[in-house]
Amino acid sequence: MNTSFLAHELSVSVSPDSLMLPDDSRYESARRVWNGMTDKRPAAIIRVNNIEDIRSAINSARRHQSIVAVRGGGHSLPGLSTCDGGVMIDLSNLDEVVIDPVSATAIVSGGTLLGGLDKAGIAHGLVVPAGVVSHTGAAGLTLGGGMGWLSRRFGLTIDHLLKVEIVTANGDIVEASANTEPELFWGLRGGGGNFGIATKFHFNMRELGAVTTGTWAYDLSRSHNALRQFADYAQSAPRELTTAFNLTDKGLSVSAFHSGAADDGMTLVSPFGSLAGTRSGVCGLSDFIAFQSRSDEHARWGRRYYAKGGYLAELSDEVIDCMTAAVRSSPSPDSEIYVLQLGGSISDIRDDATAYTGRAAQFYWVVQPIWDDAKLDSACLQWGRTIAAQLATQSMEGNYVNEQADVGGDLAAKAYGAAKFDRLQRLKAQFDPGNLFRLNQNIPPKAQLSIESAMLSSKISVDGVN
Ligand code: FAD
Repeated sequence: MNTSFLAHELSVSVSPDSLMLPDDSRYESARRVWNGMTDKRPAAIIRVNNIEDIRSAINSARRHQSIVAVRGGGHSLPGLSTCDGGVMIDLSNLDEVVIDPVSATAIVSGGTLLGGLDKAGIAHGLVVPAGVVSHTGAAGLTLGGGMGWLSRRFGLTIDHLLKVEIVTANGDIVEASANTEPELFWGLRGGGGNFGIATKFHFNMRELGAVTTGTWAYDLSRSHNALRQFADYAQSAPRELTTAFNLTDKGLSVSAFHSGAADDGMTLVSPFGSLAGTRSGVCGLSDFIAFQSRSDEHARWGRRYYAKGGYLAELSDEVIDCMTAAVRSSPSPDSEIYVLQLGGSISDIRDDATAYTGRAAQFYWVVQPIWDDAKLDSACLQWGRTIAAQLATQSMEGNYVNEQADVGGDLAAKAYGAAKFDRLQRLKAQFDPGNLFRLNQNIPPKAQLSIESAMLSSKISVDGVN
């Protein structure tokens, strides 16, 4: 790849001020992504201002055989929204959210953050169920599935999609919905950024109602008993209630979230405050926006992170033993095991209805070392990988592609399972046969189909039809 030809082509094709080359004063901050473990230098960053910028950037990158990184909110755990030497297409300027309160729908641009979506919706008492940290990107989260406090009640973020607009590897604008390009719509609901750059998401919204929350801390010495009781209570929880916990070497923190009728909230949430000798806690009516950003500072930009997760059918004694023992050897004070309750509405939909895999799971666990000092890198990575490998032996088949800090090998194939992976590879061969969008949990195009489609397109050109 000749970067000066590429840079020249981009300078005349994208809108003024959107192109940042390494000598640009904005470049240093623009190249940063959320995970401080990622330190890459793209040859060019294009902070796009409109869909034409995206098309120009894709077309130039493809012509010059440049690697392409797509940045939504920049929260990819393995740092896949940037690259060394290629083109970073940064969507952060495209953060418009348009709500229609009458039809309870939202049109969300590809660079929107969850906080922007939540705030725009809550002004009308409406939500798109999504994640739990407000600075996470809506695009990356949605394309992988999207789980959070409201998933048990309403379903995943993808279960609220009506339509997605993407720009494909050819620079074409394609809309996918249940009626138009249904196979692509299937793949976009869990297949990540493999099929193109998502510019607009059209969502169905839900009425939130009153929010009641509780968060309590338990001593580590009591955490095994507390989690045993937590598991029993959680099992019989109605879908309006979602629970989660964090384990660190300092102890156990349990949270419960209820939305809907305020009268039910306290009754359902408060039992999680007396599991095994409360150390401290708060419980009561909550402001949704404040609750959605309560972990923002803990998970702030620039810290060093690793994460690996998996699905659980139940919180068995073995799993609880494994988790409580693991945090005793944690390599940094903020290293944690986080578990979110799933089930409810997520499981109402057949697993093969979307590319997202794991609808039967009752819990999702994430082992997440968090640290600031680069000297701890190897201890933290080793702890994360070791504990995750132990928990994987207790976990269900399939995985959530959005919460994995490792890439490559058979990770994506195992996450989706053989049948879905094959279907996704065929779709990839149709929409991105050259694997231009490969900085993701990559689904390589089905080889034979790619060759066939390449032969078909060369035949079309030779015949002069195109
Ligand atoms: P980016 O780094 O910008 O992108 C991630 C991937 O998506 C990359 O492969 C990128 O190329 C691709 N991509 C981004 N934007 C687009 C686009 N517009 N079109 C096509 N491809 C695109 N997940 C949950 O489900 N629930 C949670 O509560 C949750 N909380 C999280 C909290 C934190 C602090 C972090 C770091 C992650 C969390 N996640 C959660 C995981 C999250 O869903 C993924 O990290 C997701 O990929 C982040 O999306 P992004 O747009 O911010 O990331």
